[in-house]
Amino acid sequence: MLQKIIILFYYVKTKYFHNFTDRASLEKWQKSKIKKFIAKVVGKSPFYKNYFKNLQTLPPEEWPSIDKKIMMENFDDFNTAGIKLKNSLEVAIKAEEDRDFTPKLGKYSVGLSSGTSGIRGVFLVSPLEQAKWCGTILAKMLPGSIFGKQKIAFFLRANNNLYESVKSSRIKFRFFDLKQDLKSNLNELDKFQPDILIAPPNMLNIISDAQEKHDIQISPAKIVSVADVLYEDIKNKLENIFQQKIHQVYQATEGFIACTCKHGNLHLNEDALSVRKKYLDEDSGRFIPIITDFNRTTQPIINYELNDILVEEPMKCPCGSPFTVIKKIEGRCDDILYYEDKEGKRHIVFPDFIIRTILKYIPKAEDFLFTQTDVDNAVLSLPYMDECGELLKALKEVIPINITVETLQRSSDLSLKQKRVSRKFNP
Ligand SMILES: [Zn+2]
Repeated sequence: MLQKIIILFYYVKTKYFHNFTDRASLEKWQKSKIKKFIAKVVGKSPFYKNYFKNLQTLPPEEWPSIDKKIMMENFDDFNTAGIKLKNSLEVAIKAEEDRDFTPKLGKYSVGLSSGTSGIRGVFLVSPLEQAKWCGTILAKMLPGSIFGKQKIAFFLRANNNLYESVKSSRIKFRFFDLKQDLKSNLNELDKFQPDILIAPPNMLNIISDAQEKHDIQISPAKIVSVADVLYEDIKNKLENIFQQKIHQVYQATEGFIACTCKHGNLHLNEDALSVRKKYLDEDSGRFIPIITDFNRTTQPIINYELNDILVEEPMKCPCGSPFTVIKKIEGRCDDILYYEDKEGKRHIVFPDFIIRTILKYIPKAEDFLFTQTDVDNAVLSLPYMDECGELLKALKEVIPINITVETLQRSSDLSLKQKRVSRKFNP
């Protein structure tokens, strides 16, 4: 019962009391929030106690950032609940193997991140944090009121206590396991008739194909893409088939980072976290977010550098929110490509340049993979082999290295992320 009251409290707070109208008042509010948050958690985490020893006099923007590697290496000292990495891993891995997502460690829910960057992240969430998260996400993503009846279909690689907490007598929540048989999942979805459909973009794409072929007939009021990058061409296709905006939730192990407003524009959740922007180039607005999450006290996320490249949209959103608008989530920093010019100078190439070039020549490709294997070589994997001389010429203008072409062979495991650009070496 207490859990439900907290959910409701955060729902109301987020929906009705976080209506910042200008950037200045938002930043002022965030500053005081950071101060209070740090005063509350630092003493409880041996890692941060040490980290902050020499930072007291500096403003937050000058603190060194931490990242997943540092967090995982210091896991036992990092969290404020005295939980050991060894025990957390055992619980999380066993849950994933058994496809049974209810086990906890004491009162804490344990989750695993997919580890696309090579390091698997383990995250701990207390019942209070879970309730806060739940209230916040419901306030931001439910198309109607929390008191209305609605059915939510959720396709994910692994269920989690966090997601199960959304359930109530009015909100019917159905988890679809991406590792289960696709055909039976589609049949069940058709029977369930969700009001809200939440799935990774590759699954949404399959659902849209089934809908177009009349294999299924669903009419969700809201569609939300999660857990992977939603590329522009796929987004357009989905919007066409379902005749509505496709919403996005950008949720990482480290926090609920961004979600779309009613206009379909992706905003950073700057009422739940503060985001410093580490710009990657001068004028494109590409940056790496460095976040401080005000709601995470079990595993405090302070000045934490994510591994993602975001692109800022300078235009203000018509919804009036002063929260930063994200034009797109471009992918992982690990997938920025490199080449050397004749003088041996290194240049970087953002994944988006490669994707846009490929789509210019094969606009309906949908799935492809460009993998840079070393600084001089890359492999372009295409869904079908075609005459692609012109495309290769154009790609070599973007990244002047050797490119070989092969047929794309993706695993049929829908729970895997579907990268389009990947780098397989350390620069
Ligand atoms: Zn907006």
